Amino acid sequence: MLFVFAVNSFAQTTKVTLSTEEKSFISEHPTIVLGTDQSWEPYVIVSPSGKMSGYDAEILERINKLTGAKFTLAAGKWSEMQSKAKSHEIDGLSTGTAATERASYLNFSTPYLTLQKSVFVSTGNPHAIEKPEDLQNKTLVIQKGNLADIKLAEQYKNSHILYVDTVEELFSAISTGAADATFGNGATLYLANKLGMPYLHIAFHLPQKLDLVFGVRKDWPAAISILNKALSTLSPHEKTHIQTKWFSAQTVSAIERNRNELTLSAYERYVVDQAPHIRMCVGPNWLPFTSINTEQKYQGVTADLMAIISERLSTNFTLVPTSEWSESITFMKEKSCDIITAITPTQARTEFLTFTHPVLTSPIVLATRQDQFFISDLSSITDNPIAIIKNSAAASLVKQHYPQLNIIDVASIKEGLRKLSEKKVFGYIDSLEVIAHNVSKEHYVNIKISSTLPIDFDLAIGVRKDWPEWVPILNKAIQSISEEDKRKIQNHWIGIKYEKGFDYNLIWSTLAAISVLIFLVLYRYRVITEYNKKLEELNQKLSKQAMTDQLTQLPNRYLLDQEIQRVIASSKRYQEPFSMVLFDLDYFKEINDVYGHQMGDEVLMRVSSEMERATRDADLLGRWGGEEFLLVCPKTNLAGALKLANKIREHLAQQRFLTGKQITLSAGVAEFGKDENYHSMLKRLDDSLYSAKQSGRNTIRYSESHNENKE
Ligand code: GH3
Ligand code: MG
Ligand code: MG
Repeated sequence: MLFVFAVNSFAQTTKVTLSTEEKSFISEHPTIVLGTDQSWEPYVIVSPSGKMSGYDAEILERINKLTGAKFTLAAGKWSEMQSKAKSHEIDGLSTGTAATERASYLNFSTPYLTLQKSVFVSTGNPHAIEKPEDLQNKTLVIQKGNLADIKLAEQYKNSHILYVDTVEELFSAISTGAADATFGNGATLYLANKLGMPYLHIAFHLPQKLDLVFGVRKDWPAAISILNKALSTLSPHEKTHIQTKWFSAQTVSAIERNRNELTLSAYERYVVDQAPHIRMCVGPNWLPFTSINTEQKYQGVTADLMAIISERLSTNFTLVPTSEWSESITFMKEKSCDIITAITPTQARTEFLTFTHPVLTSPIVLATRQDQFFISDLSSITDNPIAIIKNSAAASLVKQHYPQLNIIDVASIKEGLRKLSEKKVFGYIDSLEVIAHNVSKEHYVNIKISSTLPIDFDLAIGVRKDWPEWVPILNKAIQSISEEDKRKIQNHWIGIKYEKGFDYNLIWSTLAAISVLIFLVLYRYRVITEYNKKLEELNQKLSKQAMTDQLTQLPNRYLLDQEIQRVIASSKRYQEPFSMVLFDLDYFKEINDVYGHQMGDEVLMRVSSEMERATRDADLLGRWGGEEFLLVCPKTNLAGALKLANKIREHLAQQRFLTGKQITLSAGVAEFGKDENYHSMLKRLDDSLYSAKQSGRNTIRYSESHNENKE
């Protein structure tokens, strides 16, 4: 409900009341041009056609709507923009601080954005920099001319400053270890991602804040009062919304996508076209992410993602089969392979690899036997042998964080879990998803997850170091993959696990055991440590992931699948009718195109809660995928299901979303036939849905019988 309120409050456009003076100013000055730096993404993003978007552009757009004024942006070199503003060639500046040297020719608005200053370090925080004192005797890298940061750095008397010319050099100094830390703000991570150098993490926040204001020529005070009135009208919710939209790392990919599906520069196209076949090394046995099957084919989440990348770039990746991960790494070192997939960027690997953006991330966890207690901190383990895959990122990350551990190399997860099960080692460390997959597949009832490490796997593509030109190309291709496609692919691999007899009962019993143990620990010591919270969160995440769709909180496809099988069985046994409805929202792509993907997500959440409201308790509504929903109606015949479907359709059509917009859906309905199976019923639902779309949408169509499709 909170959510509904948020959307409504966002949609309303309260007009600002202007004074006579301000009104006449607007009519005398039909446009007010503010200069900005052309390279300051995401404040201002200039598309190849010259169109401007970004945080500043959107804020000004909102201000214009509220006041009727027309503030526009002009992008160019920052130094030139400043002199143009001084000479009144343009009317003011955007994206600046209220610097004293500019106060002689500009009046400033109240801040339109406040960013937190933070200290950034390399991923994994190798020097454990967590507070200002930790910067002693460290090297700080600063961009020349960044007066504010230089001043800040000088406060840390016992540290050294390394000056560089460009942002790229700055990020690369951090990732290569030439420097230990740098200062940044909300735009830093955005830029790092954009430049394909996603190795930065925030170590800690500083008390300093960066206030950005608009500046307008001194003789136009009315412009400032108009800006301030509009800025004070923007709700905090709306500001946050716009900020997350433009500053989140994901935005990079969204922007790239909107710019053009996948546009390679002439040079990049040339590189791709000239390339001989590209040899690809992969992890041979790390499902669900990657594996090589018995037919020497690449499989798993990253295999599907690489297939998309290869198609979008119109180039082929030839698999170089290996039998162990360390063999794949060796091949990369020897340049017998050109790229390697599902690899975590580590310092050591930068010796022979350059990395793309992460394609996926996964938590790193410790598995032990069931009879072990939970381990809050790995530093407490010293002698007990812990198995980790040789040459894996987990191995180097863990060695870095916990040098005291007694680490045993294993070649594969199979070997690791076997050793663990046979009590040859105390624990095994790997990705959560990979352990869960293998524990279930191999039916290890005596293994559980005992600890979650404060480190994540970033899974990226590694490129041989002498092919750096491939990194931006691959990044563009990675960015062109939508979050929706990624989710679909991950769901698909959960589905596969299931088909092969993935035993969720096992996970449930493990989880049950975990919760009981947590309870006991809590009860006995009566201390709620950060750690227990984390474990609990993890368990919740595990169970939710398995059954609930993260976005809508509706049952997911896996749960629907299970339920359908159960209902089919009982309908057959008791000779009861059973129907299903497949819904697909109409023209939903438009919502994303007009309001952005994030708003699309919010609308999806609201649509799903409205649909659920119109659903009977006895029925199960779940998210089938994307903007498709499936309603399972046990003990219901075709006529009954049609009625329900129409009720949901009508209820939704009565709701108003965003700026008074209506959202409609189309649906296909079918009753389970006598000798029918699951798949043929789904096919009939799909066909009916298709014909509902064909006949103009906001409609329900049904399939009359198992053998005959009727409109
Ligand atoms: P129609 O079904 O009426 O033919 O038109 P449509 O625009 O809805 O087209 P289609 O069903 O083919 O595409 C569904 C679109 O829904 C694609 C994608 O942009 C959007 N979508 C799917 N899942 C999500 C999601 O999780 N979040 C957001 N924001 N959008 C999604
Ligand atoms: Mg669809
Ligand atoms: Mg649709």
